[in-house]
Amino acid sequence: MYEYTGNIHMHSTFSDGALTIPEIAALGNKQGLNFLIVTDHQTLAGLDQGMEGYYDKTLVLIGMEVNEHSHHYLALNVRTVVPDNESNPQQVINGVNQQQGIGIIAHPFEKGSKFYHNGLTFLWTDWSVQGFQGIEIWNHLSRWRDELTGIFRGLLLILKPSLALHKGPYRETLRLLDGYQVQGKQVFAYGGSDAHGIRFKLPLTSIEIGSYEQGFRSINMHILTDQPLQNNLEHDRQLIYQALAQGNSWVACDYYRNSRGFRFEAQSPRGKWGMGSTISWHRGIDLLVKTPYPARVLMLRNGELWAKSQGTKHRFPVNRPGVYRVEAEYRRGWSWQPWIFSNPIWISE
Ligand SMILES: [Zn+2]
Ligand SMILES: [Zn+2]
Repeated sequence: MYEYTGNIHMHSTFSDGALTIPEIAALGNKQGLNFLIVTDHQTLAGLDQGMEGYYDKTLVLIGMEVNEHSHHYLALNVRTVVPDNESNPQQVINGVNQQQGIGIIAHPFEKGSKFYHNGLTFLWTDWSVQGFQGIEIWNHLSRWRDELTGIFRGLLLILKPSLALHKGPYRETLRLLDGYQVQGKQVFAYGGSDAHGIRFKLPLTSIEIGSYEQGFRSINMHILTDQPLQNNLEHDRQLIYQALAQGNSWVACDYYRNSRGFRFEAQSPRGKWGMGSTISWHRGIDLLVKTPYPARVLMLRNGELWAKSQGTKHRFPVNRPGVYRVEAEYRRGWSWQPWIFSNPIWISE
């Protein structure tokens, strides 16, 4: 297995981001990211202008973010623009599916901040929709903005944006995702920076909100592939999108501890299976988890806490079917820092 790290939600000068794609790619390179997916609002201009490709060691792929005021939807691996449809987001989902793309419901829950357009939020409210591939459980910028609850706190968050990472994703979003996974639906967890790098000029200085550098060090996607990247756009694009579509991946906050090296798999005398797999129940299945640093590993079964373990190697013998996923946390001061959110393994009847 090969592991690659990337960030899959950000904006460039083709929409409301501050930097061009080559400038963004240079920052991705600096952070050691293997891939970036640029998701400008309502446009695939980067794709049309031939900007997909390797920039030094980082592969830049181009997707888009559909809809403006609500029902934001990330459309990855699409070749033509998916039109907005805020009142009927099912049409947007269908539009991505027609292109065999990967569609992700972006930041479905947000609280907003009275310091940002009087509490403006970009929510997903139509839950009658079907056929989407994922939910963005952790969005750095959205979570950062929601933490702006006061002037003093705002100043702290500008000086130290990582404060917004401490509480992890919203439980509401995770519960929602669990609901789909318990029904056996192949809906996966995704996360990203949503970096815009917007600078506000002040009389003596300027401040940057949602910087790319901070974003690329924070909420990333890690994927596992059975072949290595080959420094070839066509081949590597397919490999990355395939891993993202199959859910052999996890979302992590890499800011304090890089999650590189995390593993979650099922093993029995009959074989080994990775995240995103469905296996039929039989005796002798163990769920194996490895964390690159000592961690508290929570094993969830059907969305409920099922077992806990501490250390770096964790083994959970399975005694019944269910959908299993991992949350890992490490000790930071007096609390446990939310860190890794794996995609699940289904063990069916
Ligand atoms: Zn959005
Ligand atoms: Zn966005």
